[in-house]
Amino acid sequence: MSNEYHILSLSGGKDSTALAFFIKDKMPEIHEKIEYVFCDTEQELPETYDYLNKIEVFLNKPITRIKPYIGFDHLMQIYKYLPSVNRRWCTVELKTKPFRKYVYDKFQSNGEGSVNLYIGIRADEPQRAGYNKYGDNYIQENYPFFDNGIRRQDVLDILEQAGIGLPEYYKWSRRSGCYFCFFQPKINWIRLFEIHPDLFFKAKEFEDKKNINPDFPKVHWNMEMTLEEMILPENIKKIKEDYQKLQKKKVQNCVKSHSGKLIDMFDDNENTCLFCHL
Ligand code: SF4
Repeated sequence: MSNEYHILSLSGGKDSTALAFFIKDKMPEIHEKIEYVFCDTEQELPETYDYLNKIEVFLNKPITRIKPYIGFDHLMQIYKYLPSVNRRWCTVELKTKPFRKYVYDKFQSNGEGSVNLYIGIRADEPQRAGYNKYGDNYIQENYPFFDNGIRRQDVLDILEQAGIGLPEYYKWSRRSGCYFCFFQPKINWIRLFEIHPDLFFKAKEFEDKKNINPDFPKVHWNMEMTLEEMILPENIKKIKEDYQKLQKKKVQNCVKSHSGKLIDMFDDNENTCLFCHL
C-alpha cells in the first residue's frame, strides 16, 4: 500500500478549482490518488455550494467536506465579538483547525508517509506563506501553477476549457468564503443585501445582537459603518457611485498601462488567505 497522500483544499474560488482541473489534465497520475477537500465554514454563499457540486460532477470525483468542530453560531456565543482582520478567530476555528487535524489523521493512518498538499498560487501572484507557517513540517507543499508559469488568464482558460466556467457568484462578487467576510468591500455588502437579503440580515443580527463582549472594543463587519447605516438609501447610492467611479478608473489604467485586457482591472484575492479565497 502506498503511503503517499495527496490533497488539494478547494475554496470554491477560481484558482483552486482551476488547479483541480489542471491536475486532472496534466498530472493524471496525481489526479488518480489525490483527495479533494473543502473546509466548509457552513457560512458560504449558496452559489459556492452549487459550484462545489458542479466541480464534483465535472471532475468525476467526490469532494470531502471538512466541517468545523463548533459551528459559527455557537462560536459567537463563546467569543461574543465579531471576527475581524486583527482578531481573525473565524479562519482558525472554521478552517485551519479542522483541516490540520484532518491532514494529521491521514498522515498517521498512512503510516506517517509523505503528505503532498497542492496550492493554487499563480505565477503572477506574490508568493504567500503556505500552510507550513503552522509548523506542520510533515506537509510537502506543491505549487503547480507557479512552477508551470500559469497566470490569471490561463486559469480562466482552464475553467472554460473544462466546461465549468466561473462560479455564479462571480456575477456580483469576486470572493469565495463566508457571506459575512469582513474582507469584502462595501459594494459587496450592498449586493449581498440585494441578492441574498436573508444572509445580509443574518450577518446584521450577529453584528447587532451577538457582538457584546465588554472586554474588546466593538468592531463591525465593515470598518467604516454598521450594516444598519450601510443600507440607508443615501449610503447605498453613494457606495454604488463610488464603485462605478473606481471601475472607470481601473478600466482607464488598464487600457493605459497594461495588456488592455479588462481582466486586469479586477484585483481579487487581496488581503485574503489561502484557505478562504484561493
Ligand atoms: S472567509 Fe472571511 S469570515 Fe470566513 S473564515 Fe475566511 S476570513 Fe473568516
